[in-house]
Amino acid sequence: VASAASTFTADEYADRMQRVVRDAARATLDGVLVTPGPDLVWLTGYRPTAITERLTVLVLAPDREPTLLVPALERPDAEAAAGSAAVSIVDWSDGTDPYVHASRLLRGDGRYGVSDNAWAMHLLGLQDALPKTSYHSFTERLPMLRAVKDPGELARLAAAGAAAEMKYVEILQVRFSGRRETEVAADLADLLRAHGHEQVDFTVVGSGPNGANPHHEAGDRVIETGDCVVLDFGGLMGGYGSDTSRTVSVGEPAALTREVHEVVRRAQQAGVDAVRLGSTCQDVDRAARAVIEEAGRGPQFIHRTGHGIGVTTHEPPYIVEGEEQPLVPGMCFSVEPGIYLPGELGVRIEDIVTVTEQGSRRFNNSARELAVVQ
Ligand code: ZN
Ligand code: ZN
Ligand code: ZN
Repeated sequence: VASAASTFTADEYADRMQRVVRDAARATLDGVLVTPGPDLVWLTGYRPTAITERLTVLVLAPDREPTLLVPALERPDAEAAAGSAAVSIVDWSDGTDPYVHASRLLRGDGRYGVSDNAWAMHLLGLQDALPKTSYHSFTERLPMLRAVKDPGELARLAAAGAAAEMKYVEILQVRFSGRRETEVAADLADLLRAHGHEQVDFTVVGSGPNGANPHHEAGDRVIETGDCVVLDFGGLMGGYGSDTSRTVSVGEPAALTREVHEVVRRAQQAGVDAVRLGSTCQDVDRAARAVIEEAGRGPQFIHRTGHGIGVTTHEPPYIVEGEEQPLVPGMCFSVEPGIYLPGELGVRIEDIVTVTEQGSRRFNNSARELAVVQ
């Protein structure tokens, strides 16, 4: 359902671009340059099939229409983007200098914000063409605008979360023992697609000691009865992300698995409970971490508590010590504490939550109790 309605109207894109222009003015910049990546998707709906060395750049400035400069051969793709009616599209052809084309859209002495995904070669090319311009990080601003989702985006994130949920219920029915992690990971990917995801970003199956490495994806290890297994899966549905982690036991859980799982479950709940207006990102991290520290396992929680989600599965805001960004209704991020015991096991539990006027709402609601699989 969500994928059918995955695009927004040209007016919605125009409104987002205006917000960026206003924000640039507040930052005393003359405009913002956005190259392909999540910021461009959010602003125009344009997701080039391949991001190449050919310059594509959206120029947002108070004194001109939003203008998208594209390679001539990709013009039809850009024109087909959902937000194309809200931008004026200009092109450059192979054999001409793209930076000369771009410089016609910029002030010779302008100060510009730059999206995080801009390639160094493009930025240096612009600097060469217009030596008096200067380029500034927009990391603290544009991704924070994107972090606050509108109702249409929230609906898509909720739909992606609900689809991932059905998948979790189904994965509990598959056989784990005697199969390789990669085989269970393939089942997870199939289920994500069967439940409407057009893109699978990750399917982590960390069994036994492999679970102790938070960045382990899936390997050749054969899963055994008695293993604790971290599952972490997500991707895009209708252009918006899902990301869920649950930890299961293959057969009767060992005492250590039970003990660690219960600490992580309480930590995750404490993190979610800390999501409310008046809190900051850091407060959520602290709330989850405190539970793990009280259990004497603080040093074994080796990563931040969460990350934002939207047109990508990992983006700002980051739920981490030192991030004093206040929580705003419409922000969406993961709450995913974990405990990692090298050589033994790992446990992680993750839900996507959104900040509401009343507190928070989860997009994943499947049981967080330790499930037993076969
Ligand atoms: Zn995850
Ligand atoms: Zn995550
Ligand atoms: Zn991650």
